[in-house]
Amino acid sequence: MDKINQLDSLLCGAGRVSVTVHTHPDGDAIGSGLALTGYLKECRGLDAVLIVPDEVPESLRFIGRDSAEGEIMAFSQSPTLATERIKTSDLLFCLDCASFSRTCPEMEAELKDSKAPKVLVDHHLDPDIEAFDLVFSQAVVSSTCELLYRILKSLPDVGGDLAKIPMRSLEALLTGMTTDTNNFSNSVFPGTLEMASELIAAGVDRDRILSDLYNQYRENRLRLMGFLLQENMEITPSGVAMMILDKETQDRFDFRQGETEGFVNIPLAVSKVKMSVFLTEEEGKFRVSVRSKRGVSANQFASKYFHGGGHEMASGGKLFFPQDIPSPSDAKAYILNVTKDYFGI
Ligand code: 5GP
Ligand code: MN
Repeated sequence: MDKINQLDSLLCGAGRVSVTVHTHPDGDAIGSGLALTGYLKECRGLDAVLIVPDEVPESLRFIGRDSAEGEIMAFSQSPTLATERIKTSDLLFCLDCASFSRTCPEMEAELKDSKAPKVLVDHHLDPDIEAFDLVFSQAVVSSTCELLYRILKSLPDVGGDLAKIPMRSLEALLTGMTTDTNNFSNSVFPGTLEMASELIAAGVDRDRILSDLYNQYRENRLRLMGFLLQENMEITPSGVAMMILDKETQDRFDFRQGETEGFVNIPLAVSKVKMSVFLTEEEGKFRVSVRSKRGVSANQFASKYFHGGGHEMASGGKLFFPQDIPSPSDAKAYILNVTKDYFGI
């Protein structure tokens, strides 16, 4: 039986479905998650919930504006309810998340424990395929949203007819693909443009999505961007740009999660910059975003020095203190060291 038929039969036998995504969910995670719950509820009549490890950032809440009450659950907000939900689900999905370890430790344990069939839909390198019963994994695709779009379209009840998929799911799919391609500036393949074309033809309002994504930020985002570029960005001799958003700067600009989305890409505009690293301080660690230009592996760099990974030119990881560096103020010296180690200058 091919994978689409396997998925269809899993759905036919399911009643209570939980969809999970990676921690610090981005547009692709929320977009694919809500596109799927929308389809499962409205087309298959299933009880479907999206469980995000931590809260959806304010800037992405618009994706769920047409979702049903209770369709999104944040594990960090309601751990008991979310745990119960996972325990009682008879089918689990893991989207945009190459392994359960990319959720959060408590969710990872519950997901591993569950006896329900587990389906992976993901576009990262090195997925943990052993952990799943059915795997849709493709790295040469813009986003999980694009992969999910093809899957939904191929299911027998849809049969290629987008009118059969709820409009809110179609909108969520275009939203997530737009954020993961950085609004069509990276990871765009022929199928990506085909998907966009088909979705717009099906009535998805792309202008509204763009306005929701890029024209609804608080003034703070631009002030913080200006500050980081002017006062904070440094470029190492090897051509690695770094910006470090420490706690003090976060307080100064009343930083909220999601407000620096895309900042890591900006330094790549400089000719001599081959890679860009953006650090955000959290409790006991920095969250690290890495982006590279063609020919330089952000993925290798993130896995070698930041316990992370992701995609070839867009990866992430963590830098712990005191394990990796004695204190947050040592982050800059660490990056200077590791870039020297990696590039030789
Ligand atoms: P971002 O910089 O947007 O947070 O993440 C970029 C990419 O790196 C995403 O595909 C994300 O899944 C991956 N990534 C981010 N943080 C981590 C991490 O801590 N570990 C791993 N393995 N991948 C990460
Ligand atoms: Mn993604």
